[in-house]
Amino acid sequence: MGSDVALDRLTLRGLLYGCAAAAFLWAVPALADIAQDVEQLVNRKDVSTRVVLDALAQLRPALAAAPANVRREAQRLDAELQIERGQTRAASETLAQLIASAESVHDDVMLIRALVLKARLAYYKGQPEQQYEAARRAVALAESLRSPVLAAVAQQSLGMAYVRLGRSEDAMRTFLAALELAKNSDDARLRGLILKSLALIQTYVPDLARARDYVEEARRVVGPTGDLWLMSEIDILRSIVSGPVEDNTSDLNMLVHANNQARRLELVFDEEISLHNLSDWYLTKRDWARAIEVSGQAVAVAQRFDEPEHSGLAYMNHGLALIGGGRAGEGIKELETAIGIFRHSGEDTYLANAIYELAKAYESVGRLKDAVSAHRDYRSVRDTNEGRSRARLVAEMQERFDAERRQTEILRLNEDNLRKTAVADTQRQLALFWGIVAAITIIAGAAIAFFARRTQRANARLLDANGRLAYLAERDSLTGLLNRRAMRSWIETQAHSDNLAPLALLLIDIDHFKVINDRLGHSVGDEVIIELGRRVQALLRDGDRLARWGGEEFLVVLRGVAAHQLPALALRVLRSISDNPFVTSIGPVAVTASMGYVPYPLLAESFDEGWEYHLGIADQALYRAKGVGRNAAFGVLAAVAPWNEIRRSLVENLEAVAAAGQIVTEIGRGSAGISDNVIPFGLRILNPN
Ligand code: GH3
Ligand code: MG
Ligand code: MG
Repeated sequence: MGSDVALDRLTLRGLLYGCAAAAFLWAVPALADIAQDVEQLVNRKDVSTRVVLDALAQLRPALAAAPANVRREAQRLDAELQIERGQTRAASETLAQLIASAESVHDDVMLIRALVLKARLAYYKGQPEQQYEAARRAVALAESLRSPVLAAVAQQSLGMAYVRLGRSEDAMRTFLAALELAKNSDDARLRGLILKSLALIQTYVPDLARARDYVEEARRVVGPTGDLWLMSEIDILRSIVSGPVEDNTSDLNMLVHANNQARRLELVFDEEISLHNLSDWYLTKRDWARAIEVSGQAVAVAQRFDEPEHSGLAYMNHGLALIGGGRAGEGIKELETAIGIFRHSGEDTYLANAIYELAKAYESVGRLKDAVSAHRDYRSVRDTNEGRSRARLVAEMQERFDAERRQTEILRLNEDNLRKTAVADTQRQLALFWGIVAAITIIAGAAIAFFARRTQRANARLLDANGRLAYLAERDSLTGLLNRRAMRSWIETQAHSDNLAPLALLLIDIDHFKVINDRLGHSVGDEVIIELGRRVQALLRDGDRLARWGGEEFLVVLRGVAAHQLPALALRVLRSISDNPFVTSIGPVAVTASMGYVPYPLLAESFDEGWEYHLGIADQALYRAKGVGRNAAFGVLAAVAPWNEIRRSLVENLEAVAAAGQIVTEIGRGSAGISDNVIPFGLRILNPN
């Protein structure tokens, strides 16, 4: 019996071992399978996000038994999908868990990837500071790991944060660094992503030609990977850089294609963005019916998000479309919603635009009191924005200064270190040691002196930086003339001053300036702009002001001039340009300009319309001056018809008002005699129109 028992025990043990072995043999490939399954899902970029999500859900029971690193990878995929599908709250939670678990086991690779996703989520939610923090941390970690690919991933993410913060230069530098890091990697997706980002930043600079180059390169790189997600993003960008500028239906097709792609893959964010682009297209084409339709779709898509309040843009576009289409009442409601959202999210540029549009809409339906208060609101938001960008400039200078000081500090520590190491050295090396120390001390001393001087200089620079900043903030960098902002605030001070004097607005635009640029080069164009500024400035009295209003547009504001004196003054300005050729580095160049002008106020009762409204009249007048053959000044001097009848048409259809004799106008011509020794361009050679 005993042996039987022993046998049984043996059999039992054998069975147990056998089972364990079988279980082990079964388990190993199963675990390998699930890792493989997850990896496959991560790389499925050619199907809808929903399909991937469903597949992931099916894997979930098996995942429970998988190794922790596989579980983390699945969690990361989950977060990525949640972000793409607009489940922003769920994504935040998933990421918080993932980051905590990666931190606890020091899985830095996963931590970097999770931080990059966190930055992306913040980007979508319009939280640039959080985005920057997450990306910065990812970059720091990647540096310590010394992995070029991860570093490239992190830098790309940091670049996007700079984009959102409006720091285009930093963004471009960062993207270029990322591209350099990814250069030798065989990760084509990553390189494509970076190229796409470079294209994006070129649209801010803006250099659309280069943007197009990057877009095409990105397409070439990403195409073979079959990553339709990324490709659809590139396509959206492509439709932007080829630009809805010309009436070119292939651009529209691209926008529609990008939208279809995003919908097919159920990339909800991308779908929304592509609908914004389509709305823009129809809005600029004034195709109100279509604009209402697509912007309405964008509002509907925004509703599918966890946090629909992220998308003020959808409401704003919808509002603008409705107003354009004659449904002002509904449009105003949408604009008000948009404004509430922007105010909350701190997207200040959008906010200012939306309020401005709202004010116009109120005005159009006769809600003047609301319009006035919206105008005030607009001004205060705009002023705050300007103040903020000035503060950012100061902060950046401070940062640069700190960086220099840190460098000096590092140098000092290095020298300390060297000395300590050297002291521990043996007698035998003493002679050599002193030689080295002497050399190092000399070099380090020289370097310290150098950096100290630089720091001193930086310090001095910073001391008067505030003064200079105030000056720079008011000046145009090419001509040294007042810039647009400074001119605005000067006019506003004048208009609100106690001893109010009449002003006159003279808007000047160089004729056929593109031809000067094209035929003689941009730097000659710049010289012309500078010289024109000098000539006009020389004619002005102390109380007058001249600003560079745009590229080759100037605004003169005369103070205390009566309307009947204006035509003569305007002509003097015009002739100061056309009388003599401009002397440039490549020789004399004949330049003419056109001008539109108007007194502000045109009538006592037009005063409350504000100076910007009057500038609108000057702009229309300038357009008339171009229309009568250029090298001309067109002035609107007085109104004959009742104010209410012409108030709108003055800025919408000046020609009709003038033809109907409802206003008093004046046309003056610049001097025509241009000598033959000047470099010819313009009408006599070719007609650019
Ligand atoms: P028009 O007579 O109708 O005014 O014709 P135009 O060619 O002057 O047309 P437009 O006013 O639209 O052209 C403005 C051009 O000025 C386009 C832009 O490339 C150029 N420009 C804008 N800013 C600068 C600048 O700072 N330097 C140079 N060189 N060119 C500029
Ligand atoms: Mg112009
Ligand atoms: Mg021009």
